[in-house]
Amino acid sequence: MDIKNFMSTKEYARTLDQQDVLVSYREEFYLNPGMIYLDGNSLGLLSKRAEKSLMRSLEDWKRFGINGWMEGAEPWFYFSERLGELSAQLVGAAGDEVIMSGSTTANLHQLAATFFEPKAGRNKILADELTFPSDIYALQSQLQLHGLDPATHLVQVKSRDGKFLEEDDIIAAMNEEIALIVLPTVLYRSGQILDIERLTKEAHARGIMIGFDGCHSIGAVPHWFDKWEVDFAFWCNYKHLNGGPGCVAGLYVNRKHFDKKPGLAGWFGSRKDKQFDMEHSFTQANSAGAFQIGTPHILSMAPLLGSLEMFAEVGIEQVRSKSLRLTKYLMDLIESELSDYGFNIGSPRDESKRGGHIILEHKEAARICKALKKEAIIPDYREPNMIRLAPVALYTSFQEVFETVQVLKKIMDGRLYENYENKRGIIA
Ligand SMILES: *Cc1c(COP(=O)(O)O)cnc(C)c1O
Repeated sequence: MDIKNFMSTKEYARTLDQQDVLVSYREEFYLNPGMIYLDGNSLGLLSKRAEKSLMRSLEDWKRFGINGWMEGAEPWFYFSERLGELSAQLVGAAGDEVIMSGSTTANLHQLAATFFEPKAGRNKILADELTFPSDIYALQSQLQLHGLDPATHLVQVKSRDGKFLEEDDIIAAMNEEIALIVLPTVLYRSGQILDIERLTKEAHARGIMIGFDGCHSIGAVPHWFDKWEVDFAFWCNYKHLNGGPGCVAGLYVNRKHFDKKPGLAGWFGSRKDKQFDMEHSFTQANSAGAFQIGTPHILSMAPLLGSLEMFAEVGIEQVRSKSLRLTKYLMDLIESELSDYGFNIGSPRDESKRGGHIILEHKEAARICKALKKEAIIPDYREPNMIRLAPVALYTSFQEVFETVQVLKKIMDGRLYENYENKRGIIA
Protein backbone atom coordinates (compact mmCIF):
# COMPACT_ATOMS: atom_id res chain seq x y z
CA MET A 1 0.00 0.00 0.00
CA ASP A 2 1.44 3.40 -0.83
CA ILE A 3 1.81 6.06 1.84
CA LYS A 4 -0.96 8.25 0.47
CA ASN A 5 -3.53 5.45 0.58
CA PHE A 6 -2.40 4.36 4.00
CA MET A 7 -2.86 7.89 5.24
CA SER A 8 -6.54 7.69 4.28
CA THR A 9 -7.24 4.61 6.36
CA LYS A 10 -8.82 4.19 9.74
CA GLU A 11 -5.77 2.19 10.85
CA TYR A 12 -3.53 5.15 10.24
CA ALA A 13 -5.84 7.38 12.31
CA ARG A 14 -5.72 4.81 15.08
CA THR A 15 -1.91 4.75 14.92
CA LEU A 16 -1.84 8.54 15.30
CA ASP A 17 -4.06 8.28 18.37
CA GLN A 18 -1.82 5.62 19.85
CA GLN A 19 1.19 7.89 19.44
CA ASP A 20 -0.62 10.89 20.92
CA VAL A 21 0.82 11.95 24.28
CA LEU A 22 -2.32 13.95 25.14
CA VAL A 23 -4.74 11.11 24.49
CA SER A 24 -5.60 10.67 28.19
CA TYR A 25 -7.00 14.23 28.37
CA ARG A 26 -10.01 13.15 26.33
CA GLU A 27 -11.27 11.45 29.48
CA GLU A 28 -11.11 14.75 31.33
CA PHE A 29 -13.96 16.11 29.20
CA TYR A 30 -17.66 15.45 28.93
CA LEU A 31 -17.79 14.14 25.40
CA ASN A 32 -21.17 13.23 24.02
CA PRO A 33 -21.07 9.59 22.93
CA GLY A 34 -21.43 9.35 19.19
CA MET A 35 -20.93 13.05 18.64
CA ILE A 36 -17.84 14.61 17.05
CA TYR A 37 -17.42 18.11 18.40
CA LEU A 38 -15.45 20.44 16.12
CA ASP A 39 -16.69 23.75 17.47
CA GLY A 40 -14.31 24.23 20.39
CA ASN A 41 -13.26 27.55 18.89
CA SER A 42 -16.77 28.90 19.51
CA LEU A 43 -17.59 27.19 22.79
CA GLY A 44 -15.16 24.72 24.32
CA LEU A 45 -16.50 21.66 26.11
CA LEU A 46 -16.91 21.20 29.84
CA SER A 47 -14.12 19.35 31.62
CA LYS A 48 -14.51 17.51 34.89
CA ARG A 49 -11.95 19.78 36.50
CA ALA A 50 -13.82 22.90 35.39
CA GLU A 51 -17.00 21.44 36.81
CA LYS A 52 -15.20 20.74 40.08
CA SER A 53 -13.80 24.25 40.42
CA LEU A 54 -17.23 25.71 39.73
CA MET A 55 -18.78 23.45 42.36
CA ARG A 56 -16.09 24.53 44.82
CA SER A 57 -17.13 28.17 44.52
CA LEU A 58 -20.78 27.21 44.88
CA GLU A 59 -19.87 25.24 47.98
CA ASP A 60 -17.97 28.24 49.35
CA TRP A 61 -21.05 30.38 48.85
CA LYS A 62 -23.17 27.74 50.59
CA ARG A 63 -20.81 27.45 53.56
CA PHE A 64 -19.37 30.89 53.98
CA GLY A 65 -21.80 33.43 52.52
CA ILE A 66 -20.04 36.80 52.47
CA ASN A 67 -16.94 35.30 54.07
CA GLY A 68 -16.31 33.38 50.86
CA TRP A 69 -14.52 36.52 49.62
CA MET A 70 -11.63 35.84 52.02
CA GLU A 71 -12.16 32.45 53.59
CA GLY A 72 -13.45 30.16 50.88
CA ALA A 73 -11.35 27.33 49.45
CA GLU A 74 -10.88 29.80 46.59
CA PRO A 75 -11.00 33.30 48.12
CA TRP A 76 -13.00 35.33 45.61
CA PHE A 77 -11.30 38.61 46.48
CA TYR A 78 -8.09 37.39 44.81
CA PHE A 79 -9.68 35.08 42.26
CA SER A 80 -9.26 37.33 39.18
CA GLU A 81 -5.59 37.85 40.03
CA ARG A 82 -5.08 34.14 40.63
CA LEU A 83 -6.57 33.25 37.25
CA GLY A 84 -4.53 36.01 35.64
CA GLU A 85 -1.35 34.48 37.01
CA LEU A 86 -2.35 31.06 35.73
CA SER A 87 -3.08 32.48 32.27
CA ALA A 88 0.15 34.43 31.99
CA GLN A 89 2.19 31.50 30.67
CA LEU A 90 -0.28 31.15 27.77
CA VAL A 91 0.61 34.60 26.45
CA GLY A 92 4.21 35.01 27.61
CA ALA A 93 3.51 37.57 30.31
CA ALA A 94 4.32 38.09 33.97
CA GLY A 95 1.58 37.03 36.39
CA ASP A 96 0.58 40.57 37.32
CA GLU A 97 0.19 41.66 33.70
CA VAL A 98 -2.92 39.51 33.19
CA ILE A 99 -6.31 39.82 34.85
CA MET A 100 -9.71 38.21 34.35
CA SER A 101 -12.45 40.78 34.00
CA GLY A 102 -15.67 41.50 32.14
CA SER A 103 -16.13 40.27 28.60
CA THR A 104 -13.98 40.48 25.49
CA THR A 105 -15.87 43.44 24.10
CA ALA A 106 -16.05 45.21 27.47
CA ASN A 107 -12.28 44.75 27.83
CA LEU A 108 -11.69 46.25 24.41
CA HIS A 109 -13.80 49.22 25.51
CA GLN A 110 -11.71 49.54 28.65
CA LEU A 111 -8.42 49.30 26.74
CA ALA A 112 -9.47 51.65 23.95
CA ALA A 113 -10.74 54.12 26.55
CA THR A 114 -7.31 53.87 28.19
CA PHE A 115 -4.92 53.68 25.23
CA PHE A 116 -6.64 55.82 22.61
CA GLU A 117 -5.42 59.34 23.35
CA PRO A 118 -6.22 61.35 20.24
CA LYS A 119 -4.29 64.55 19.60
CA ALA A 120 -4.57 67.08 16.81
CA GLY A 121 -3.23 65.42 13.67
CA ARG A 122 -2.94 61.99 15.32
CA ASN A 123 -6.48 60.89 16.08
CA LYS A 124 -7.29 57.78 14.05
CA ILE A 125 -7.61 54.11 14.93
CA LEU A 126 -6.30 51.41 12.62
CA ALA A 127 -8.03 48.01 12.39
CA ASP A 128 -8.74 45.62 9.51
CA GLU A 129 -11.73 44.75 7.37
CA LEU A 130 -11.78 41.05 8.30
CA THR A 131 -11.95 41.39 12.06
CA PHE A 132 -14.79 40.33 14.32
CA PRO A 133 -17.72 42.79 14.12
CA SER A 134 -17.96 43.44 17.86
CA ASP A 135 -14.43 44.88 17.85
CA ILE A 136 -15.38 47.28 15.09
CA TYR A 137 -18.57 48.38 16.88
CA ALA A 138 -16.54 49.04 20.03
CA LEU A 139 -13.90 51.09 18.19
CA GLN A 140 -16.55 53.07 16.31
CA SER A 141 -18.30 53.99 19.54
CA GLN A 142 -15.00 54.91 21.24
CA LEU A 143 -14.27 57.33 18.39
CA GLN A 144 -17.75 58.80 18.77
CA LEU A 145 -17.16 59.36 22.48
CA HIS A 146 -14.26 61.58 21.44
CA GLY A 147 -16.49 63.42 18.97
CA LEU A 148 -14.71 61.78 16.02
CA ASP A 149 -16.44 60.34 12.96
CA PRO A 150 -15.77 56.60 12.53
CA ALA A 151 -16.26 56.93 8.77
CA THR A 152 -13.07 58.97 8.55
CA HIS A 153 -11.24 58.05 11.75
CA LEU A 154 -11.52 54.27 11.78
CA VAL A 155 -9.13 53.03 9.11
CA GLN A 156 -9.70 49.40 8.11
CA VAL A 157 -6.86 47.71 6.24
CA LYS A 158 -8.20 45.86 3.23
CA SER A 159 -7.64 42.21 2.46
CA ARG A 160 -6.37 41.46 -1.06
CA ASP A 161 -8.41 38.26 -1.37
CA GLY A 162 -11.13 38.54 1.26
CA LYS A 163 -9.46 35.88 3.42
CA PHE A 164 -6.02 36.94 4.53
CA LEU A 165 -4.22 40.10 5.57
CA GLU A 166 -0.75 41.10 4.42
CA GLU A 167 1.46 42.50 7.16
CA ASP A 168 3.00 44.78 4.51
CA ASP A 169 -0.42 46.36 3.87
CA ILE A 170 -1.00 46.89 7.59
CA ILE A 171 2.41 48.49 8.02
CA ALA A 172 1.83 50.71 4.99
CA ALA A 173 -1.32 52.03 6.71
CA MET A 174 0.58 52.99 9.88
CA ASN A 175 0.88 56.68 9.12
CA GLU A 176 1.35 59.70 11.38
CA GLU A 177 -2.42 60.13 11.82
CA ILE A 178 -2.82 56.74 13.57
CA ALA A 179 -2.88 56.87 17.37
CA LEU A 180 -3.95 53.30 18.11
CA ILE A 181 -3.91 49.91 16.33
CA VAL A 182 -6.17 46.99 17.27
CA LEU A 183 -5.76 43.71 15.37
CA PRO A 184 -6.64 40.06 15.86
CA THR A 185 -3.90 37.57 16.74
CA VAL A 186 -5.69 34.96 14.62
CA LEU A 187 -8.42 35.82 12.12
CA TYR A 188 -11.70 34.23 13.17
CA ARG A 189 -12.56 32.97 9.71
CA SER A 190 -9.42 31.92 7.82
CA GLY A 191 -7.46 31.17 10.98
CA GLN A 192 -4.46 33.20 9.74
CA ILE A 193 -1.96 34.18 12.46
CA LEU A 194 -0.64 37.69 12.14
CA ASP A 195 3.04 38.42 12.77
CA ILE A 196 2.48 40.11 16.12
CA GLU A 197 6.15 40.75 16.81
CA ARG A 198 6.78 42.45 13.50
CA LEU A 199 3.61 44.54 13.61
CA THR A 200 4.36 45.66 17.15
CA LYS A 201 7.89 46.69 16.24
CA GLU A 202 6.69 48.66 13.22
CA ALA A 203 3.92 50.36 15.21
CA HIS A 204 6.32 51.42 17.95
CA ALA A 205 8.84 52.71 15.42
CA ARG A 206 6.08 55.13 14.37
CA GLY A 207 5.03 56.05 17.91
CA ILE A 208 1.74 54.12 17.75
CA MET A 209 0.17 52.04 20.54
CA ILE A 210 -0.83 48.53 19.50
CA GLY A 211 -3.06 45.87 21.05
CA PHE A 212 -4.40 42.47 20.00
CA ASP A 213 -7.64 40.51 20.23
CA GLY A 214 -6.55 37.00 21.21
CA CYS A 215 -9.95 35.26 21.16
CA HIS A 216 -8.97 32.78 18.50
CA SER A 217 -5.47 32.03 19.69
CA ILE A 218 -5.62 31.88 23.48
CA GLY A 219 -5.28 28.25 24.52
CA ALA A 220 -4.34 27.12 21.01
CA VAL A 221 -1.34 29.21 19.94
CA PRO A 222 1.45 30.39 22.28
CA HIS A 223 2.30 34.09 22.41
CA TRP A 224 5.19 36.09 23.84
CA PHE A 225 3.57 39.44 24.51
CA ASP A 226 6.28 40.65 26.90
CA LYS A 227 9.15 39.77 24.61
CA TRP A 228 7.35 41.37 21.67
CA GLU A 229 6.50 44.42 23.79
CA VAL A 230 2.81 44.35 22.89
CA ASP A 231 1.04 47.21 24.69
CA PHE A 232 -2.17 45.37 25.56
CA ALA A 233 -4.35 42.41 24.62
CA PHE A 234 -7.75 40.94 25.46
CA TRP A 235 -9.49 37.62 24.81
CA CYS A 236 -12.38 35.40 25.74
CA ASN A 237 -12.02 32.26 27.83
CA TYR A 238 -14.98 30.27 26.54
CA LYS A 239 -13.42 29.15 23.23
CA HIS A 240 -10.18 27.14 23.32
CA LEU A 241 -9.89 27.61 27.10
CA ASN A 242 -13.18 25.86 27.89
CA GLY A 243 -14.28 28.29 30.62
CA GLY A 244 -17.99 27.86 29.85
CA PRO A 245 -20.66 29.98 28.11
CA GLY A 246 -20.12 33.66 28.86
CA CYS A 247 -17.00 32.98 30.92
CA VAL A 248 -15.28 36.10 32.25
CA ALA A 249 -12.65 37.34 29.77
CA GLY A 250 -8.91 38.04 29.92
CA LEU A 251 -6.91 41.23 29.64
CA TYR A 252 -3.17 41.87 29.36
CA VAL A 253 -1.45 45.18 29.98
CA ASN A 254 2.31 45.48 29.55
CA ARG A 255 3.84 46.53 32.87
CA LYS A 256 5.31 49.67 31.33
CA HIS A 257 1.71 50.93 31.27
CA PHE A 258 0.78 50.10 34.86
CA ASP A 259 0.70 53.81 35.68
CA LYS A 260 -1.88 54.57 32.99
CA LYS A 261 -5.18 55.75 34.38
CA PRO A 262 -7.96 53.32 33.41
CA GLY A 263 -10.31 54.93 30.90
CA LEU A 264 -13.18 53.27 32.72
CA ALA A 265 -12.37 53.17 36.42
CA GLY A 266 -14.16 51.17 39.10
CA TRP A 267 -13.50 50.09 42.65
CA PHE A 268 -12.19 46.62 41.76
CA GLY A 269 -9.32 48.38 39.98
CA SER A 270 -8.16 49.62 43.38
CA ARG A 271 -5.06 48.55 45.20
CA LYS A 272 -6.31 45.55 47.17
CA ASP A 273 -5.34 46.94 50.55
CA LYS A 274 -6.99 50.31 49.78
CA GLN A 275 -10.23 49.12 48.19
CA PHE A 276 -12.21 48.93 51.43
CA ASP A 277 -11.01 52.31 52.69
CA MET A 278 -13.96 53.48 50.57
CA GLU A 279 -12.29 56.77 49.67
CA HIS A 280 -13.61 58.87 46.80
CA SER A 281 -10.16 59.23 45.31
CA PHE A 282 -9.06 56.19 43.31
CA THR A 283 -5.81 54.46 44.24
CA GLN A 284 -5.24 52.12 41.35
CA ALA A 285 -3.58 48.72 41.62
CA ASN A 286 -0.03 48.56 40.32
CA SER A 287 -0.89 45.72 37.97
CA ALA A 288 -3.26 44.76 35.16
CA GLY A 289 -5.79 44.48 38.00
CA ALA A 290 -6.21 48.28 37.77
CA PHE A 291 -8.26 47.75 34.62
CA GLN A 292 -11.02 45.78 36.33
CA ILE A 293 -14.25 47.64 36.91
CA GLY A 294 -16.75 46.12 39.34
CA THR A 295 -17.28 42.96 41.35
CA PRO A 296 -16.03 39.96 39.36
CA HIS A 297 -18.58 37.42 38.10
CA ILE A 298 -17.30 34.63 40.30
CA LEU A 299 -19.56 31.85 39.08
CA SER A 300 -18.78 32.73 35.47
CA MET A 301 -15.06 32.40 36.00
CA ALA A 302 -14.84 29.58 38.52
CA PRO A 303 -14.76 26.86 35.81
CA LEU A 304 -11.71 28.50 34.34
CA LEU A 305 -9.58 27.52 37.32
CA GLY A 306 -9.95 23.79 36.66
CA SER A 307 -9.40 24.34 32.97
CA LEU A 308 -6.28 26.48 33.40
CA GLU A 309 -4.77 23.94 35.77
CA MET A 310 -5.01 21.44 32.97
CA PHE A 311 -3.28 23.81 30.53
CA ALA A 312 -0.56 24.45 33.10
CA GLU A 313 -0.02 20.72 33.43
CA VAL A 314 0.19 20.11 29.67
CA GLY A 315 1.91 23.32 28.60
CA ILE A 316 0.79 25.42 25.67
CA GLU A 317 3.66 24.21 23.45
CA GLN A 318 2.36 20.67 23.64
CA VAL A 319 -1.18 21.82 22.93
CA ARG A 320 0.06 23.74 19.91
CA SER A 321 2.06 20.83 18.61
CA LYS A 322 -0.94 18.48 18.63
CA SER A 323 -3.25 21.15 17.27
CA LEU A 324 -0.97 21.62 14.26
CA ARG A 325 -0.86 17.89 13.63
CA LEU A 326 -4.66 17.67 13.83
CA THR A 327 -5.26 20.53 11.42
CA LYS A 328 -2.61 19.26 9.00
CA TYR A 329 -4.12 15.77 9.07
CA LEU A 330 -7.57 17.24 8.43
CA MET A 331 -6.33 19.28 5.46
CA ASP A 332 -4.38 16.31 4.04
CA LEU A 333 -7.48 14.12 4.24
CA ILE A 334 -9.66 16.80 2.66
CA GLU A 335 -7.22 17.09 -0.21
CA SER A 336 -6.95 13.38 -0.77
CA GLU A 337 -10.62 12.44 -0.22
CA LEU A 338 -12.68 15.46 -1.16
CA SER A 339 -10.88 16.99 -4.12
CA ASP A 340 -13.73 16.25 -6.55
CA TYR A 341 -16.53 17.98 -4.70
CA GLY A 342 -15.86 21.68 -5.11
CA PHE A 343 -14.27 22.36 -1.71
CA ASN A 344 -11.50 24.85 -1.15
CA ILE A 345 -9.32 25.05 1.95
CA GLY A 346 -9.35 28.69 3.06
CA SER A 347 -6.68 28.46 5.78
CA PRO A 348 -2.91 28.82 5.63
CA ARG A 349 -0.87 25.69 4.95
CA ASP A 350 2.20 27.31 6.49
CA GLU A 351 2.35 26.24 10.15
CA SER A 352 3.69 29.56 11.35
CA LYS A 353 0.58 31.21 9.84
CA ARG A 354 -2.11 28.71 10.85
CA GLY A 355 -4.17 28.97 14.04
CA GLY A 356 -6.23 26.23 15.69
CA HIS A 357 -9.03 25.79 13.17
CA ILE A 358 -9.48 25.42 9.46
CA ILE A 359 -11.97 26.81 6.97
CA LEU A 360 -13.52 24.77 4.25
CA GLU A 361 -15.20 26.85 1.58
CA HIS A 362 -18.07 25.53 -0.52
CA LYS A 363 -21.00 27.20 -2.24
CA GLU A 364 -23.40 24.88 -0.39
CA ALA A 365 -21.60 25.43 2.95
CA ALA A 366 -24.67 26.44 4.99
CA ARG A 367 -26.56 23.27 4.20
CA ILE A 368 -23.53 21.01 4.29
CA CYS A 369 -23.18 22.18 7.91
CA LYS A 370 -26.79 21.22 8.58
CA ALA A 371 -26.21 17.78 7.06
CA LEU A 372 -23.08 17.37 9.23
CA LYS A 373 -25.07 18.20 12.36
CA LYS A 374 -27.69 15.62 11.38
CA GLU A 375 -24.79 13.12 11.39
CA ALA A 376 -23.77 14.27 14.90
CA ILE A 377 -20.73 16.20 13.72
CA ILE A 378 -20.65 19.75 15.05
CA PRO A 379 -18.91 22.38 12.87
CA ASP A 380 -19.89 25.99 12.59
CA TYR A 381 -20.86 28.03 9.62
CA ARG A 382 -19.63 31.50 8.75
CA GLU A 383 -21.06 33.70 6.03
CA PRO A 384 -20.93 33.56 3.10
CA ASN A 385 -19.60 30.06 2.31
CA MET A 386 -17.45 28.75 5.13
CA ILE A 387 -17.49 25.58 7.19
CA ARG A 388 -15.28 26.08 10.22
CA LEU A 389 -13.71 22.99 11.76
CA ALA A 390 -11.69 23.07 14.97
CA PRO A 391 -10.15 19.79 16.08
CA VAL A 392 -9.10 20.56 19.65
CA ALA A 393 -5.83 19.24 21.06
CA LEU A 394 -7.16 18.20 24.47
CA TYR A 395 -10.26 16.35 23.31
CA THR A 396 -10.39 15.61 19.58
CA SER A 397 -8.93 12.34 18.33
CA PHE A 398 -7.35 11.65 14.96
CA GLN A 399 -9.99 8.98 14.42
CA GLU A 400 -12.68 11.64 14.79
CA VAL A 401 -10.94 13.75 12.17
CA PHE A 402 -10.85 10.73 9.88
CA GLU A 403 -14.53 10.00 10.54
CA THR A 404 -15.49 13.62 9.81
CA VAL A 405 -13.96 13.50 6.35
CA GLN A 406 -15.64 10.14 5.64
CA VAL A 407 -19.01 11.59 6.63
CA LEU A 408 -18.41 14.68 4.49
CA LYS A 409 -17.73 12.38 1.58
CA LYS A 410 -20.95 10.48 2.27
CA ILE A 411 -22.90 13.75 2.41
CA MET A 412 -21.46 14.86 -0.92
CA ASP A 413 -21.84 11.49 -2.67
CA GLY A 414 -25.44 11.13 -1.56
CA ARG A 415 -26.20 14.87 -1.99
CA LEU A 416 -27.66 14.68 1.53
CA TYR A 417 -27.27 18.45 1.92
CA GLU A 418 -30.08 18.90 -0.61
CA ASN A 419 -32.51 18.03 2.18
CA TYR A 420 -31.84 21.47 3.70
CA GLU A 421 -32.09 25.11 2.75
CA ASN A 422 -28.74 26.76 2.02
CA LYS A 423 -29.31 29.42 4.69
CA ARG A 424 -27.75 29.93 8.06
CA GLY A 425 -29.68 29.48 11.31
CA ILE A 426 -30.21 32.32 13.83
CA ILE A 427 -26.99 31.18 15.50
CA ALA A 428 -24.47 29.88 13.01
C1 LIG B 1 -15.58 35.41 20.05
C2 LIG B 1 -14.97 36.69 19.72
C3 LIG B 1 -15.40 37.87 20.35
C4 LIG B 1 -16.56 37.82 21.31
O1 LIG B 1 -16.66 38.90 22.15
P1 LIG B 1 -17.60 38.81 23.45
O2 LIG B 1 -17.52 40.12 24.05
O3 LIG B 1 -17.08 37.68 24.29
O4 LIG B 1 -18.98 38.46 22.98
C5 LIG B 1 -14.74 39.04 20.04
N1 LIG B 1 -13.72 39.07 19.15
C6 LIG B 1 -13.31 37.94 18.52
C7 LIG B 1 -12.18 38.00 17.54
C8 LIG B 1 -13.92 36.73 18.78
O5 LIG B 1 -13.52 35.63 18.14
